[in-house]
Amino acid sequence: MKNLLFIFAMACGHLLTAQTPHSHAHQRKIVFPDIPGYQTLSCDFHIHTVFSDGSVWPDIRIQEAMKDGLDAIAMTEHLEYQPHKADIPHPDRNRSYHVATESAEGKDLLVINGSEITRNMPPGHSNALFLEDANKLLVEDSLEVFKEAQKQDAFVFWNHPNWTSHYKDGMAKLTDMHLKLIKEGLLHGIEVVNDITYSTEALQIALDHNLTIMGTSDIHGLVDWQYDIPDGGHRPITLVFAKEKTKASIKEALQNRRTIAWFRDYLIGREEFLLPLIRASLLVSSASYKGDTQVLSIKIENNSSVAYTLENLGEFSLHAHTDLIDIPHHATTEILLKTLERRASVELRFKVLNAVTAPKTHPEIRIAVKVGE
Ligand code: ZN
Repeated sequence: MKNLLFIFAMACGHLLTAQTPHSHAHQRKIVFPDIPGYQTLSCDFHIHTVFSDGSVWPDIRIQEAMKDGLDAIAMTEHLEYQPHKADIPHPDRNRSYHVATESAEGKDLLVINGSEITRNMPPGHSNALFLEDANKLLVEDSLEVFKEAQKQDAFVFWNHPNWTSHYKDGMAKLTDMHLKLIKEGLLHGIEVVNDITYSTEALQIALDHNLTIMGTSDIHGLVDWQYDIPDGGHRPITLVFAKEKTKASIKEALQNRRTIAWFRDYLIGREEFLLPLIRASLLVSSASYKGDTQVLSIKIENNSSVAYTLENLGEFSLHAHTDLIDIPHHATTEILLKTLERRASVELRFKVLNAVTAPKTHPEIRIAVKVGE
């Protein structure tokens, strides 16, 4: 009995080391590697404060963004919905942006002037980013407001197209007005992720109509509480693949659809950006045979903030995993491959189950491994 207990304790100890993803504390700061040709920027383009229906002053948004290690945020108060107006008169709709910008002074965080065009369906709610003057968007006509945004060369995306207040079935659907906006170049992106929701239909719309895939928090309260951040959660963001860390570069990247949405550890985006991001995130740090066996130990280092779930599609079976492998964030994971004979190199093939390129579609990656690395 004593021996059994001892073995049990050993097994538990072993499990603990194997499964605790990181020796260091939970890393809150969001980190994604750059991809060839582009910097990977972490951005939240949908944020509220007391200047519309949020609960905090803009400086808190700056502090949250700094804690999360974001590169850019957009202040996007509702233009038309002003529930705090009796207490906080709001004659200048750029005020939230100005207060946030002052608060971000000297910090490595870009603040973008935006606004949420808040209309009934259609067209529902849309964010206009990179505004020169938000006040000029206070126009009655629902089409004219988009034209004013266009005059300011804004980047505009449809917010929460799956919102159950607008579509009780939660199914994102384009109306004739949306088709008109897209056709006339007045609508450029769509939220596939908003706050705690994901829309596979919105992803299909983005792919069908060549719109930019967006993921945002639409935060009204505190990000820590909304997303359980100290307990390992993260806010939804848009990863932007930009030539440089400037507002102009971010705008150019959004206009050219170089984005991925990150939501509950899912990565949602076009394959041409997902594959390089995954490849840059997962690096083989060593590969060597265990003793005189034909079992190859491969260590995979994940230098990103996303935890990956891989399905083994390779020709060899695994010695310590089923066909599914969890790769925790900011950690090294060992996989044991039974290669039948000792080889100088092998190719790993995985389906990346937490990455989504189209509804029900996951990308595949191949990693060449040189033994003895
Ligand atoms: Zn909003």
